[in-house]
Amino acid sequence: MSEPERPDVAKIKNAAIIGGGPAGLMAAEVLARNGVKVTIYERMPSLARKFLMAGRGGLNITHSEPMPKFLKRYGDAEAVLFPAIESFPPSALIAWCEELGQETFTGSSGRVFPKSMKASPLLRAWLKRLDGQGVEVKLRHSFRGWDDAGRLLITDADGATQAIQADATILAMGGASWPRLGSDGGWIAHLHAKGVAITPLRPANCGFEVEWSQHLRDNFAGSPLKNVALIFNGARVTGECTVSEYGLEGGAVYTQSAALRDAIEREGQALLTIDLKPDMSAEVLAQRLAAPRGKTSLSNHLRKRLAMPAIEIALLRETGAPFDDPRRLATHIKALPLRLVRTRPIERAISSAGGIAFSELDEWLMLKRMPGVFCAGEMLDWEAPTGGYLLQACIATGFAAGQGAARWLDALS
Ligand SMILES: Cc1cc2nc3c(=O)[nH]c(=O)nc-3n(C[C@H](O)[C@H](O)[C@H](O)COP(=O)(O)OP(=O)(O)OC[C@H]3O[C@@H](n4cnc5c(N)ncnc54)[C@H](O)[C@@H]3O)c2cc1C
Repeated sequence: MSEPERPDVAKIKNAAIIGGGPAGLMAAEVLARNGVKVTIYERMPSLARKFLMAGRGGLNITHSEPMPKFLKRYGDAEAVLFPAIESFPPSALIAWCEELGQETFTGSSGRVFPKSMKASPLLRAWLKRLDGQGVEVKLRHSFRGWDDAGRLLITDADGATQAIQADATILAMGGASWPRLGSDGGWIAHLHAKGVAITPLRPANCGFEVEWSQHLRDNFAGSPLKNVALIFNGARVTGECTVSEYGLEGGAVYTQSAALRDAIEREGQALLTIDLKPDMSAEVLAQRLAAPRGKTSLSNHLRKRLAMPAIEIALLRETGAPFDDPRRLATHIKALPLRLVRTRPIERAISSAGGIAFSELDEWLMLKRMPGVFCAGEMLDWEAPTGGYLLQACIATGFAAGQGAARWLDALS
């Protein structure tokens, strides 16, 4: 009787994934499906903490807009991200979620969410699948660079460092926002030491600082500005933001944040214009403001005639609005000038811009200087607004790097 066929253990290749966020997990899935023995090294006590945090306000996994418009969201990185996003587009991401038992829906803005809105059921199903595929997870294991023989240096929770030989490595250590969730950009030094060019990490989708008066800070911090338009460099974004103790935060600001941040870096400040009444023309505003107000206070007049909330009136005062001239006041309401002086720190940003330069990578997202080392996710040099574009690019580059590594390992056999 002949012996049953056994896999040739000597031929099984192993891959190390550094970082267990969405990019690393997707690379792990692709490699495991290709018969590779995969180990994920994650420095935190649990996987994908930022992904779980993203689910707190509703996990916006991708966007339903047509591909040409979708790709434009990546700005200068559109062309370099195109192959990865083409190989795992929004439709594939939606199908993948549904395979994991997480139905999705498209909101009125075109954003796509799991029906549960949360990340935790999706993550649970994903980790169960990875476990079934034999993926090994080593928590509290931190990557510390490479030894002279090119082996990975991994330090465990007890502080013991091992040198690990991997046939392929995927680096997926994220950007530098919200470092308490695990990603702090500490990998930069290790890659610099290897001569890899890295665009400095900067805050993206971030708030900004405004030198508010003490009065505004004390009385209005936390007040929302609803249905306003933020205008900068000819781009107009309608939405909501919040006046914070330090300046401005929130969706509409995040959408404009890349251009605002770049202007501050160049010029030391950015002059943002806010249209407090985007649905009313300056003429209509001026007419309403010109109505006799008798003994009514100016604040009540603005409240009654324009349904203007107290925070908007405070902003008019803060910016020296010409209250005694209805026409000029109307113009000020349509174009309230705000001087933004700094970005909020990267630790407070939703994501980071900058990272490993695409010129360092081949078409499979492998480092040209380090054959067998692939990179994915937010540690690459791209940025995008919120709206599902961040997770889409992280997961798609994880998929592409996983495929690249599987192909590389295949060629080694
Ligand atoms: C509050 C918030 C809300 C968000 N909401 C959304 C949203 O709705 N939609 C969207 O598209 N995006 C959203 N994002 C962004 C999105 O979560 C990130 O872009 C995404 O998680 C990045 O994935 P990644 O795998 O590249 O990196 P990460 O998720 O940061 O994962 C990297 C992993 O690597 C680990 N690591 C780092 N260094 C080491 C090391 N030396 N050794 C071992 N492990 C290491 C980290 O601990 C971490 O687990 C949000 C982000 C935040 C902060």
